[in-house]
Amino acid sequence: MSSAPLPDPWTRPVPGPDAAVPGSGGLVDRHGRVATDLRVSLTDRCNLRCTYCMPPEGLQWLPKVEQLTDDEVARLVRIGVERLGIREVRFTGGEPLLRPGLVGIVAAATALSPRPEVSLTTNAIGLARVAPALAAAGLDRINVSLDTLDRERFRALTHRDRLDDVLAGLRAASDAGLTPVKVNAVLLRGMNEADAVPLLDFCLEHGYQLRFIEQMPLDAHHAWTRGEMVTAEDILARLSAAHELTPDTEERGSAPAERWLVDGGPATVGVIASVTRSFCGTCDRTRLTADGQIRNCLFAREESDLRTAMREGATDDELADRWRIATLAKLPGHGIDDPSFLQPSRPMSAIGG
Ligand code: SAM
Ligand code: SF4
Repeated sequence: MSSAPLPDPWTRPVPGPDAAVPGSGGLVDRHGRVATDLRVSLTDRCNLRCTYCMPPEGLQWLPKVEQLTDDEVARLVRIGVERLGIREVRFTGGEPLLRPGLVGIVAAATALSPRPEVSLTTNAIGLARVAPALAAAGLDRINVSLDTLDRERFRALTHRDRLDDVLAGLRAASDAGLTPVKVNAVLLRGMNEADAVPLLDFCLEHGYQLRFIEQMPLDAHHAWTRGEMVTAEDILARLSAAHELTPDTEERGSAPAERWLVDGGPATVGVIASVTRSFCGTCDRTRLTADGQIRNCLFAREESDLRTAMREGATDDELADRWRIATLAKLPGHGIDDPSFLQPSRPMSAIGG
């Protein structure tokens, strides 16, 4: 994924008296939101080819030299936690289990003070082997992506016959105490809509927390259309045909999932309606890509290049300032419904979902 660099907010003068002062404070944007949740992509590579994410032939992967080293990742996470108020760190990708140094990176994050909550989003292939080491490194929680329990549909959806590995990974995560295990599912029209209820029943049976995610225009091949996506409303209608859903009144805060109690609770199901009921107004995310770019939004059309600055000798203070400036420029919303909306050039797998 080597393309022309995006505009970098660092290269613009800091505007206006309302701007945060570089050199102090956390990651505040001009709309008053504070980013405390860091998503770190550890690689753009993956061993699956989910149709809503990557083409079957894969993508042009980042050259190794452009990727942050383990030490560089650990340094930027430390700056985020120690200087910028990051309280949660989630490692993702691409597929983060493909990163050889993952366990060490997790251990470095969990050793920080103040101790951030550290979690992982993964397709769970290979998790059965590494879950105990991740738990020993201090990993707190895990999210596993699983869109169907039907072997043929899994193969059609991911272009790989790896359902058994995912199920083994889920069991291992639970056994290792990486709980509550959350399961993320994306439904595609004409493909796996019928899996909504079986996925919920499976998660209820095993004590996993299921969340459906609306498909977003972040696929590498730009095939997303609003008319084709399965909406939160569609999902809730399907689930309600088999279970009684009542809104969970617990405070949602900045959590993206709206939650429902299933059959009176205590089990819940979540729906992340990123498109039809966007939650940009309470967003607390900041993102670091595997090649060291800060993105203030999944849909950002700007990036701030911390990798080059770091390799040219920037101090921790200077890197923190660049990160603050990148945050200031965050737009109020993703604008998917705006006629001028343009899908970002980086796909989800290269941003870190
Ligand atoms: N490979 C890991 C996985 O699949 O969990 C981590 C990276 S993946 C990009 C993170 C999450 O993004 C997954 O739950 C996946 O289903 C979701 N995702 C990928 N492309 C998406 C899209 N276009 N719309 C909504 N969610 C998407
Ligand atoms: Fe890989 Fe995750 Fe994208 Fe699927 S959603 S292709 S598992 S990065």
